[in-house]
Amino acid sequence: MLDILIKNGTIVDGTGSNRYQANVGITDGVITEIAKDLDIPAKSIIDAENQIVSSGFIDIHSHSDLSPFFVNYKMQSKLYQGISLEIVGNCGISCLPTNDKSRKTITELLEGALALPLNGMVAEDNSITDYAEHIGRCPAATNVGLLIGHGTLRGCVMGFDMRPPTKEELQAMADLLDHELTHGAFGMSLGLIYPPSSYGDLEEFIVLAKVLKKHEAILTVHMRSESTHIFDAVREMLKVAESSHVHLQISHLKLIGKPQWGKADELLAMIKEARSKGLEVTCDQYPYTATSTNMAAMVPGWAQSGGPEAMCQRLAKPSKELLTEIKIEMERRGGAGKVLIVSTHDKYPEFDGVTLDKAAKALNLEPEMAVTVLLCAANGGIPCCYFCLAEEDMLTIMREQFICVGSDGYAFPFDKGLISTNPHPRSFGTFPRFLQITREQQLMSLEAAIAKITALPAAILGLKDRGTIAIGKKADLTIFDASQIADRSSYTDALRKPAGINYVIIDGKIALAKGEQVGEDFGRVLLHEQY
Ligand SMILES: [Zn+2]
Ligand SMILES: [Zn+2]
Repeated sequence: MLDILIKNGTIVDGTGSNRYQANVGITDGVITEIAKDLDIPAKSIIDAENQIVSSGFIDIHSHSDLSPFFVNYKMQSKLYQGISLEIVGNCGISCLPTNDKSRKTITELLEGALALPLNGMVAEDNSITDYAEHIGRCPAATNVGLLIGHGTLRGCVMGFDMRPPTKEELQAMADLLDHELTHGAFGMSLGLIYPPSSYGDLEEFIVLAKVLKKHEAILTVHMRSESTHIFDAVREMLKVAESSHVHLQISHLKLIGKPQWGKADELLAMIKEARSKGLEVTCDQYPYTATSTNMAAMVPGWAQSGGPEAMCQRLAKPSKELLTEIKIEMERRGGAGKVLIVSTHDKYPEFDGVTLDKAAKALNLEPEMAVTVLLCAANGGIPCCYFCLAEEDMLTIMREQFICVGSDGYAFPFDKGLISTNPHPRSFGTFPRFLQITREQQLMSLEAAIAKITALPAAILGLKDRGTIAIGKKADLTIFDASQIADRSSYTDALRKPAGINYVIIDGKIALAKGEQVGEDFGRVLLHEQY
C-alpha cells in the first residue's frame, strides 16, 4: 500500500532530460515507484492529468528565519509558489548565533536592515540546535535550511563597531562558525552593504571561507556594490573563492542604476571566466526590475557604526557630508522618484505606498533630509522598493543555466488583516513569475527552467536526496499546470495567490492540495551534515 499515488502526470525530473508520462508512488516520505502503468492501492490518489510533476522548488535565497514563530500567522506565500525548501539567513544577517549582548541589535538589524516585519518578535535562539528544536515546536510551512549570517556572527563575537577583528576575535568567529557548520548550517552569508558584515575585509572573509570549505559548505554574498562598483565587488569575491576554494554563490545578481544598464553580458563574462578556471561560482536572481531593502541602504556604512540606535543619533543631526553621501546613493538607485516607501511603521502612515520625492515635498524637505527624518522616526527601519533595474539585463541573467532563482523574500500570510503594508511582490510570486516569463518569452525549455529551480540549487547545497525525481529520492514534489502558471502579485496589490500551482508534497506529505494549504504545518530544519 502506497501513501500517495500520483496518476497520469507528466514528469519533468529536474535533470534537464525530456519530460515523460508516468505514475509516481510515495511511501514513508520517499519516491518508491515510477512507472507508466503503476496501479498499486494508495491511501491518497492525486490525478495529475495535464499537469507537470516536478521536484519541489527550492528557494535558495530567503529571509523567513523567524516566520514560523509568529502566533496565528500562516506561512503561506512561499508554499503557494510551489516551494518545498527555503534557505534562510541570507544577506549577512541570520537570526543566530546570538548571545545576551548581541540579541537586541541582531533583532533590530533583521527588522531594520532587512526590513522584516517582526512586530516585537526577538531572535532568541543561540545556535542552530536551538533553532531546530524551536521549529520542532513551531513547524514551518516548508522545510528550512540555514545559513549563518556573517554580520550576526561578527556582532555576536565583537559587537557592531566599524573596525577589524583582533586575531583572537577572528579565531573566535572561525570557531563559532565551525560549531554551527558541524551542527548543520549549510554555509555562511555575507551582506556587504549591511553593517556589521560590511565592516569585514578580504583577510577576514578568507579565514572564514576556509572554515566553510572544510565542511563543503557554501559562501553566499550580497556584494559590496551592485551599481557603480559592481565589477570591483565581483573581483573581491572571486579573490575569496580563489584563496579558499569555497563554493561562492552570488546572491540576487543584478545591475542597479541606469549607468550600469546593458552590462549584464560583461558581468556574466567575468563570472564565466572564473568558472572556466575551475572556481565554483554560481548565482541566484529574482525576476523583478525593482529591488527591496531598507531606506537605510542609502546611509553610508560609517554612519551606521554601532547599530541602528547609534545611526539614528547621527541622522538626528546630519552633517553636510552625511547628507551628500545619502544623496549620491539615492541617485545611484535612480533618484527619489524611484524609491517607493512600503511602510513607515505607523509613524507617517500617509507616506505608505508613496514615492520618496512626494513624501519629501509634503515634509517641505530635500529628499536626503527626508531620509534622515523618516528613518529617525521609525527607529532606523523603513522598507522601500527601488525601481532601478533594466528588464533586458534581468532576462540576460535569467537565461544562464548556472543561475538559480531566489525570492529574497519572506513567508507571509495572505491575510490583509495581518499584513497591512504592501511588501515587494517577490515574496508572493517569484517562482510562478519565473516560469511564466520563461514560457511567455520563450527563454528556454520547461525542462531547463525546472532544472534551475530544483536540481541546481540542490546540487549547490549538497542535497543528494532532493532536487530530482528518481526512485529513492525524498518525496518533495510540486504539481502544476505549465500553461497556466502565473504570478498575480503586484507592487500595489502584493497579497495575491499565484495561478496554476495545484499540489505541493513535502517529505511525502501533502502540504498544498487543489491550490490550497491543507492541515497543520510540518516543515522542519534540514541539516547539512546529514547529507
Ligand atoms: Zn541582499
Ligand atoms: Zn537577501
